[in-house]
Amino acid sequence: MKPAPFAYAKARTLDHAIELLGHGEDARILAGGQSLIATLNMRLSHPALLVDINGVGGLNGVVRKNGHIEIGALVRHAEAERSPEIARQAPLIALAMPHIGHPAIRNRGTIGGSIAFADPAAELPACLLALGGEVDIAGPRGRRTVRAGDFFKGLFETALTPGDVLTAVRLPAAVADARVGFAEFARRHGDYAMAGLAACARADGKRLDDVRLAYFGVGATPVRAHKAEAALAAGDVDAAVSALAKDLDPPDDVQASGAVKLHLAGVLLRRVAGQLAEARP
Ligand SMILES: Cc1cc2nc3c(=O)[nH]c(=O)nc-3n(C[C@H](O)[C@H](O)[C@H](O)COP(=O)(O)OP(=O)(O)OC[C@H]3O[C@@H](n4cnc5c(N)ncnc54)[C@H](O)[C@@H]3O)c2cc1C
Repeated sequence: MKPAPFAYAKARTLDHAIELLGHGEDARILAGGQSLIATLNMRLSHPALLVDINGVGGLNGVVRKNGHIEIGALVRHAEAERSPEIARQAPLIALAMPHIGHPAIRNRGTIGGSIAFADPAAELPACLLALGGEVDIAGPRGRRTVRAGDFFKGLFETALTPGDVLTAVRLPAAVADARVGFAEFARRHGDYAMAGLAACARADGKRLDDVRLAYFGVGATPVRAHKAEAALAAGDVDAAVSALAKDLDPPDDVQASGAVKLHLAGVLLRRVAGQLAEARP
């Protein structure tokens, strides 16, 4: 199908982008276009104006700042996948990246677009939640930072309001005893996951502390499994798997029934628990 007609404007600066977005609900940001263009072509959305932010300076780059790693909104998935800085400082992102679509999609798709789009089956929102990251936003009323736990509000719904530009995501830089784990089930490699799990923890001798499990593909947003986290920190993987029935309530969808997703969540947890137990080289 072809999209409904729309106007196009290329923003020169962040302020210019925010000004162009002042057209209200009818204006939409164009970043990598890997999700937006598909929704336009399927006529799932019909904005009057696309505001292209690809020429806006200051939204690229991966920098370490104050114990955090900051990833600009326009950093492409492929750049993040190949970044030695991300491999060292945010190894969970490096683990997740090859699961996102295919190389052609990762060459264009951006980190900011993926977080802003907030597909419930997407990898990066769950990684952001697992790591306890933050999102920087610039909008008509200035700048603000929103924690991952407050950012994802509902199905494709985030703390972004009309006129806002997501400028960067910030993640705590990995410390020496950091452990991460990632696994997903997809029908074919590159498909959105039926269910997936992004996890991190700190090793304390043979024990794990600060266990954070963020599931995706099992609800309207990425979901923390708090009871399973506590059981895993206590060293009881079986209890953690049993606790998932209290933590998660996956709805049926086109991929699988809720019951199948809950079963898959347990299988993923056993795999990821094995990864968390091992120090990375
Ligand atoms: C065949 C196919 C398979 C895919 N598989 C996966 C997958 O397995 N996992 C996965 O996670 N993704 C997958 N994707 C999506 C891909 O990761 C997208 O790149 C990503 O979801 C959106 O990033 P984008 O830069 O392309 O954003 P766009 O498509 O340009 O924008 C997406 C939405 O976010 C908004 N937006 C973009 N940037 C910003 C910003 N900086 N501030 C505020 N709003 C913004 C746009 O207005 C739009 O509403 C797939 C895509 C395709 C086509």
